[in-house]
Amino acid sequence: MRAVRMTAPGVLEQVEVPTPTPGPGEVLVRVGAVGACHSDLHILDAPPGAFPTPITLGHEIAGTVDTLGDGVTGWSAGERVAVYGIIGCGTCRGCLRGLENQCRTVPLGGIGLSRDGGLAEHVVVPASRLLPVGDLAVTQAAPLTDAGLTPYHAIELARPALRPGTSAVVIGIGGLGHMAVQILAATTAVRIIAVDSNVAALDLATRVGAHHVVPAGPDTVDRIRELVGPAPDGADVVIDCVGVDATLATARGVVATGGRLLLVGLGGGTMPVRPVADAPPTVPFETSVTVPFWGTRAELQEVIALGRAGLLTADVQTFPLDRAPEAYDLLRAGEIHGRAVIVP
Ligand code: NAD
Ligand code: ZN
Ligand code: ZN
Repeated sequence: MRAVRMTAPGVLEQVEVPTPTPGPGEVLVRVGAVGACHSDLHILDAPPGAFPTPITLGHEIAGTVDTLGDGVTGWSAGERVAVYGIIGCGTCRGCLRGLENQCRTVPLGGIGLSRDGGLAEHVVVPASRLLPVGDLAVTQAAPLTDAGLTPYHAIELARPALRPGTSAVVIGIGGLGHMAVQILAATTAVRIIAVDSNVAALDLATRVGAHHVVPAGPDTVDRIRELVGPAPDGADVVIDCVGVDATLATARGVVATGGRLLLVGLGGGTMPVRPVADAPPTVPFETSVTVPFWGTRAELQEVIALGRAGLLTADVQTFPLDRAPEAYDLLRAGEIHGRAVIVP
């Protein structure tokens, strides 16, 4: 079969590999669609040894059940499924609590991370990772598994603060951010403020339900402050889907005293925490800072329900498998709006 693999650190290329065979408890899935996540660029940029090579990337997968391994029951060929990407160890503290996104194997234990992923015609996954998606298009189901699930989980963590009439700021309206805006719109009555450095991303934010859009720039904090008021008021929840120094500065500059910062983006930025007696702290007092990771299987089921109800729709740009490297180049160049989805 054809697969797009990281054959060496930083090298992404299409190769021919044998179609894998499902082992006991596993299922061979015919990949229908796989999302191109910005995390794949971080994986490609990681130092040698950080990730195994060669590896087929792609951790945002939907498709149809093909062949069942020994002992697998409850699935039939042709059934449309989404793949939950984390493979928890099953025995650690997080797994025992049903929080596989806190497994000791995280962040590297997963499909397309530590074993072959979905940028191929087929992928083998444990049967326990499959969720049915009914009649949802696979190009919609795929982005739900990460671009949808990750902000959904982050928003769940902040749920108590998302009271009617409060404000939430989403920074970075790409694959994750444009889903975050929709999840907020569908599940809360908060005022949604979207921030991005790209005009097309701000247009997308408006289309998917943001009430205000603010271009990223030197006056971003002031412009958001005009909407949310001066300290100690501010945004009750800020979701940073970029995570570089500039966006972290915006995040801490607009969050309310006692608000919540959700640091989702893995941009490698740093944020000073300097509570001193004679100056305002660099992060407002009483603010909670959370670093969410992906989500749980139970939450993915809820995200799929939002998708099936028409309340969460990824804005997708599709590419055939042989153009996957080009899709990642466009993602890196900031020329993908919404989610690039590869259709093998
Ligand atoms: P994306 O490339 O689709 O979107 C990023 C968006 O941020 C783009 O619209 C871009 O214009 C905007 N942006 C970039 N720099 C900016 C800046 N300085 N100010 C304002 N906007 C800026 O990326 P994505 O796939 O949505 O992923 C976003 C981040 O989330 C990545 O770092 C990714 O690795 C990370 N991620 C984290 C998790 C997790 O579990 N924590 C899961 C998936 C992805
Ligand atoms: Zn991802
Ligand atoms: Zn575990």
